[in-house]
Amino acid sequence: MLMFFHLILTNECNLQCRYCYGEAVDDVDTGFQDFEIDYSLPKKISYDMDVLKKFCSLDSDCVLSFYGGEPLLCVEEIKQIMDNVKARLYLIQTNGLLLDRLESDYVNRFHTVLVSVDGDEALTDFYRGKGTFRKVIDNLKLIKRNGFKGELIARMTVMEQTDIYKQVRWLLDNDEFSFSSVHWQMNAGFWENDFKRRNFQEWSERSYNPGIRNLVKFWVDCMKEAGIVLKLYPFLGIAQSLLSGEERSLLRCGGGWINYAVQTDGFIVPCPTMWGMKDYYLGHISSANPLKLKRLALNSPCTECDVFDVCGGRCLYANVIRRWSSEAYGLVCGTVRNLIDAVAKELPRMRLLIKNGKIGLKDFDFLKYNGCEIIP
Ligand code: SF4
Ligand code: SF4
Repeated sequence: MLMFFHLILTNECNLQCRYCYGEAVDDVDTGFQDFEIDYSLPKKISYDMDVLKKFCSLDSDCVLSFYGGEPLLCVEEIKQIMDNVKARLYLIQTNGLLLDRLESDYVNRFHTVLVSVDGDEALTDFYRGKGTFRKVIDNLKLIKRNGFKGELIARMTVMEQTDIYKQVRWLLDNDEFSFSSVHWQMNAGFWENDFKRRNFQEWSERSYNPGIRNLVKFWVDCMKEAGIVLKLYPFLGIAQSLLSGEERSLLRCGGGWINYAVQTDGFIVPCPTMWGMKDYYLGHISSANPLKLKRLALNSPCTECDVFDVCGGRCLYANVIRRWSSEAYGLVCGTVRNLIDAVAKELPRMRLLIKNGKIGLKDFDFLKYNGCEIIP
């Protein structure tokens, strides 16, 4: 089984997005309850390249994913790692603004580039700042011209201003730059007071959930009409599990059991969002064995949930930190149930298409734990 490591190259970012920087400004009081946090992590990687090299040599099949903050603020470090540290695959999760700074020799070696785009220009710029969309799309056209042949995934962050059906359809087919892979993640449960400021309930029940049901129908219509299983990751992950009869899915992002993150100081945490949470330090790359890292399990309410085996628990960080009340988080779980239900309802149509040879079960294959969390 491949092990995945997010390498957090820096904690700094060159954007100030609404759901990240904006929320941090509005939510200055957000705390970490009794958790001990290291707020003084180095801004860039402080460990020696040889230490990382030795750590990865213990698992020559490891997959390294460059992550931040914004990893392309550390172009030299990326090149140094790709030149010196052997890995099965290299991936990157980026906001895309600086993709033109990395030479194509390196970009073309990425198996996957996950780029943050929230939908069309108006929506992306609303969340991420004016001019962001244009620059990112120009860079994506550039890397394609320069020979990038790997998978390019549009990674959306979704919240109240997102019409999920309209925006995913737009990303798949537009005059600017159409994507063949799309994943989305919900901005929910990460801050303490944002639920009161926001209109999450109305949006999730009136817009997002019906949008997901329509989108699943569209997804299966494409299988029927064009014989194509579009890489819409949340659907793909669930459908693959249900079609293959998988008994139980573990946390689908892989956080804390197959996907870990290496902080800038070399300490290993279950996932990038848990940087600095000392209670969750799982060792240091100078002494840990990548194949023997501790595996973490989720707690209540997931362990008592009737859809746990399919959901997998959604998010370890949210499960641990519990920033939203159970009632508020219950709405997030409502979106998970709706998603599972929408995919499950379409299973007979998918099975028939497989039986008739229109599509194959292997069309649902994807590189698991590549940074798409599956459950938004
Ligand atoms: S639906 Fe909610 S409670 Fe149930 S397993 Fe998923 S995240 Fe946990
Ligand atoms: S879904 Fe949660 S646990 Fe998984 S990587 Fe994202 S923040 Fe971490």
